[in-house]
Amino acid sequence: MTDVIDGNAVAADIRDGVADCVDRLAEAGERPGLATVLMSDDPASETYVSMKQRDCEEVGIDGVHVDVDNDAPADELYDTIEELNDDDDVHGILVQMPLVDHVDTRRVLRTVAPEKDVDGFHPENVGRLVAGNPRFKPCTPHGVQRLLESAGVDTDGAEAVVVGRSDIVGKPMANLLFGRGDGGNATTTVCHSHTDNLESHLGRADIVVAAAGIPEFITGDMLREGATVIDVGINRVERDGDSVLVGDVDYDSAKDVAGAITPVPGGVGPMTRAMLLYNTVKSAAEKADVDVPLP
Ligand code: NAP
Repeated sequence: MTDVIDGNAVAADIRDGVADCVDRLAEAGERPGLATVLMSDDPASETYVSMKQRDCEEVGIDGVHVDVDNDAPADELYDTIEELNDDDDVHGILVQMPLVDHVDTRRVLRTVAPEKDVDGFHPENVGRLVAGNPRFKPCTPHGVQRLLESAGVDTDGAEAVVVGRSDIVGKPMANLLFGRGDGGNATTTVCHSHTDNLESHLGRADIVVAAAGIPEFITGDMLREGATVIDVGINRVERDGDSVLVGDVDYDSAKDVAGAITPVPGGVGPMTRAMLLYNTVKSAAEKADVDVPLP
């Protein structure tokens, strides 16, 4: 029987734990705050940001949203971030990507104060992750690590294959999987668009993390019997006249081979959102020097 890993349920537990931490921090005089910043012409970005604000509200985090006009000079965005860096009520800053073309994305990542960089994308935080001493684990890979843990998957000594090498998913995912400690110690291969014979790598994997952004391209016949398959992909496709979300894994064929699998939607997506709340509370607890039982 294939175990379908329920990301909504695991994320709900984490959100409950975060809400408890928020209460404790508020009692100690430090209510966590998350600022979202949008300067984008990508229609999905507005939805993502409003979902993140709603998540904050649900767990008691103070959400602030700043819209920067798409036609404004890039300096307006950099100045906005500096102001949020200086705002004592803001513990986490999330600049929604992708940004408009005339903004230097790398400069944006460098401008967010590392101690408020709840995405974990500032070069200092990337360096800390690679060095095995993360301040904030990036939300999506951290969420995947928690899903594996919740499903009782032992990563220690396992063969893990990450498909995709982006800065936000593939690279940090690989770092967490091969890093030392709980949820790590996997022998990890990173595949990308230049990988020869992807099937040969997938075919020996105990754990597959799919993050290529190609709808349903990993099929059951590419997988090892009993593998754990975590599908990070979110792709919108037309099916029978409807617009539907599918992952990077062909769920129907993969579920007959996999030992455990995440659905899309309802797998990694809710975990990414939950881990953003987690990082915001972690940031507030560190600033206030209050010990809270992070979930
Ligand atoms: P990305 O920046 O486009 O990176 C895609 C990666 O896949 C690249 O490294 C690319 O290789 C690799 N790739 C492309 N074709 C391949 C192939 N045929 N074989 C092997 N590797 C291939 O995407 P991303 O930002 O990492 O996102 C990946 C997917 O996850 C997207 O569907 C995205 O929407 C989704 N996502 C979901 C969440 C969530 O919360 N669930 C969060 C973030 C992203 P090269 O480097 O060689 O180009």
